[in-house]
Amino acid sequence: MRLVEQTATQLLAQLNAGEVTSLELTRACLDQIHRVDSRVKAFLRVRSDAAIATAEEIDQRRKNGQPVGRLGGLPVAVKDLLCTAGEPTTAASRMLEHFHPPYDATVIARLRSADAVIVGKTNMDEFAMGGSTENSGFFPTRNPWDLQRTPGGSSGGAAASVAARMTPLSVGSDTGGSIRQPAGLCGITGLKPTYGRVSRYGVIAFASSLDQIGPLGQTAEDVALLLEVIAGHDPLDSTSVARPVPRYTQSLREPLKNLRLGVVQEHYGEGLNHEVAAAVREAINVYKSLGARIVEIELPHARYGIATYYVIAPCEASSNLARYDGVHYGHRADEKRLITELAVERARLEQASDQAGLDRLDNALVKLYRRSRAEGFGAEVKRRIMLGTYALSAGYYDAYYVRALKVRRLIRNDYDAAFKSCDLIVGPVTPDTAFNLGEKSADPLSLYLVDLYTVTANLAGIGGIALPCGMSKAGLPIGFQLQGPAFTEETLLRAAYMFQQATNGHQHPPAIVTTNA
Ligand code: GLN
Repeated sequence: MRLVEQTATQLLAQLNAGEVTSLELTRACLDQIHRVDSRVKAFLRVRSDAAIATAEEIDQRRKNGQPVGRLGGLPVAVKDLLCTAGEPTTAASRMLEHFHPPYDATVIARLRSADAVIVGKTNMDEFAMGGSTENSGFFPTRNPWDLQRTPGGSSGGAAASVAARMTPLSVGSDTGGSIRQPAGLCGITGLKPTYGRVSRYGVIAFASSLDQIGPLGQTAEDVALLLEVIAGHDPLDSTSVARPVPRYTQSLREPLKNLRLGVVQEHYGEGLNHEVAAAVREAINVYKSLGARIVEIELPHARYGIATYYVIAPCEASSNLARYDGVHYGHRADEKRLITELAVERARLEQASDQAGLDRLDNALVKLYRRSRAEGFGAEVKRRIMLGTYALSAGYYDAYYVRALKVRRLIRNDYDAAFKSCDLIVGPVTPDTAFNLGEKSADPLSLYLVDLYTVTANLAGIGGIALPCGMSKAGLPIGFQLQGPAFTEETLLRAAYMFQQATNGHQHPPAIVTTNA
């Protein structure tokens, strides 16, 4: 098997045994990026020289017998939502095209001190708003299994990078499904940690009460390895939780005894593709054969998940994104042109003695804000800002925002009640397999509905993992999801590992990896 096709865990063992160097591995990943990424377009930026320099430095330390961090020189790709000091961080937005953060996100700092080799920043939906990576301000990413289709999103580049074996690991973010959904659509494993498990410091905010950073990899074992490094309390993020981080990779191999898996009948209702339903049922059968007990549970308010999420997330986004006005932060429209335009307009109105027109005339600052935001943001981001601003405005605040918060509480209560009778909940991750690029662009609501099974975990603040469980007749990966109570990542990972030991769906790469085209 080629180097790049191996799992992070296998590669790490070889690095630590001196059978392969970080430089060789980093070069192999860069070659693979060179070979496939002109077609997949997972990366916004590849940092070849910096990655090679880091790899060499790690190899040198290893050669000298000096300590090497837990990731031992493994190449990692990072969603362009996490700040990297001195290097562009754009959130795939024209608004931040020239932003070079002066500091590293905590997760980036942890990756560096664990001796990861950051090979590049991956494409995403602008500000993580979307589910297909088509909302990127730069270009869409394609699904390595079928280049006419979306890899999902918003962490589409991060998922495609692992699926096309460009990096063994990547870091994504999940506000309403953006790790799990692309992992499901690309046939890899992705984990959304409990809210507060991973620091959000230095992560460009979308919806702060929902955003969480998490790992993507080929297997649960790989995801456990990366989670171990990035999780943990951070005094710089007041919402990060001061709880010890378990050694996920250590407990992984212990099979779960007497596992009670909750199944929600409503998951199998209207809108679920029958091939997906069959594959998820088959996954449940695998668990049964491994001794798990299936318990029927109810999440009666889950059906309001989409409506609730699409009020709360845009509200928070409209507030978080207010700072991008071209003055405080972000793209600034051409000031000289604006000032000239204003002067010409003023002169014209004065000449015409149009007092009403003069009263309406924007001042330069307002015009600058308006133009900068009009130029800097894409259509979906503008839509979210408008939705959120509307829902937060006087008179609507109680009817939309406060009501959504109340439903959020009910959804959380449902989970609390369900987890009294089961350890984890098993179900689909997406209603369908990867859709064609452009298929849902004209109808934002149809794209929002893809998040049916994922948004509730974010609303409740709990963890979830997506992993492959089969292939559709058209040759597209099908994933399923496990959700667990807050801070049960250990259980999620053990359950996912059990499944992957009993099955081999996660081991097949797409044809783009194995053919020479
Ligand atoms: N698809 C969802 C949205 O558009 C979730 C995005 C995310 O998790 N970042 O908001």
